[in-house]
Amino acid sequence: MNAAFMRAIPVLKVLKQEGHEAYFVGGSVRDSLLKREVGDVDIATSATPEQIINMFPKTVDIGKEHGTIIVVTEEESYEVTTFRSESTYSDNRRPDSVTFIKSLKEDLRRRDFTINAMAMTETGSIIDYFQGKEHLKQKKIHTVGNADERFSEDALRMLRAARFSSQLKFTISLKTVEAMKANAKRLAAISVERKTVEFEKLLKGVNIVYALNILYETNLLSYLPRVSGKVMQLTQIGEKLEQTSLNERSELWTAVVKSCGIENIELFLQEWKLPKKVIHSVMKNVRIWNILNNSSWDTFKVYEAGITTALEVERIRSVIEGTQPQYEIVKSLYEQLPIRSKQDLAINGTDLIHMYGKKPGKWVSDILNKLEEKVLEGTIINTPSTIKEWVLQCKMKQEKNY
Ligand code: ATP
Ligand code: MG
Repeated sequence: MNAAFMRAIPVLKVLKQEGHEAYFVGGSVRDSLLKREVGDVDIATSATPEQIINMFPKTVDIGKEHGTIIVVTEEESYEVTTFRSESTYSDNRRPDSVTFIKSLKEDLRRRDFTINAMAMTETGSIIDYFQGKEHLKQKKIHTVGNADERFSEDALRMLRAARFSSQLKFTISLKTVEAMKANAKRLAAISVERKTVEFEKLLKGVNIVYALNILYETNLLSYLPRVSGKVMQLTQIGEKLEQTSLNERSELWTAVVKSCGIENIELFLQEWKLPKKVIHSVMKNVRIWNILNNSSWDTFKVYEAGITTALEVERIRSVIEGTQPQYEIVKSLYEQLPIRSKQDLAINGTDLIHMYGKKPGKWVSDILNKLEEKVLEGTIINTPSTIKEWVLQCKMKQEKNY
């Protein structure tokens, strides 16, 4: 059994000793059968949230009403969820209520795809009511039960189908694709944040072109912010990203906005509800990429970019444009910079005001900009004495001109 499960066995044992059923479920079971790296190990149990809280010394309640409690052990923490069934979905996204139940089978029945609806005992036996193993072998994504119903309950599942096809290099069953077409418009009810999570996972996968074509064919693409006419451009980046993935969000979205020729980048990324920090990094990446525009890096460009942006731009360009990344050149230029920002200049605005004995004004930043340029090009050394000497010379020249 995978080491991640071994570490979690004590949690199952505690639940079982108290007379409850407990299993590993969902993505971790799927990934271990596929011999993929196992991510979060999730646990399903017949114990109620209250019972779970009372059984373990350290827990975090992240949604008792939905049945999920985090159990914190010395090594890790696990989501432990009470077996539940979900009632009607009147809004295409959230069940009107959840009912805690005693049946594992019913709990597995509410899950999205057959490959995600298997359970595993602490001895490693697989419980598979919905042909999950068979579908893993066939590399097929099928909903558990009627696809039409499952997508009308929760429209996000359609996007999840596409992202799993990309991550796992699976195809989506015909019936499931048909139901995606029929229910595509329901995706409009889903929050952008949840769509963004799935879309990013899709773009980090290995079967991106297939998944994007599914989104296009089913019209789901029209319900993602501002990419409905961009299937060609996205497919082109998809081909590149299948070879080498970009893991940083700022890198991924820089690739998207550049390749799709997005004009108002800020607005586009705001519509995807990305955090300000990511938006800021993407905008900076694009600005530097445009400055670079096929020329080579030099002191001024590396200074303007800063090391993080410079390296990100090199990585994205190497993936999208197929250029050889110039990491060493960038690093060496950065290390040799005499200053890394204006704050590193050996004198500051206050010093200048004292030296000139004049009121503060635009003239201060003009001189600092000039100094910055001189120091970067290497014509002035960044020490207080050389800089002061240069400033005094400028001052004298100015006075002479009057
Ligand atoms: P990942 O590797 O991305 O974490 P995962 O399969 O673990 O993949 P999660 O989103 O973490 O996916 O969800 C855990 C499990 O919960 C899924 O495997 C599935 O059984 C169930 N699940 C998650 N989202 C849904 C949904 N929208 N509808 C039905 N079942 C879901
Ligand atoms: Mg998971």
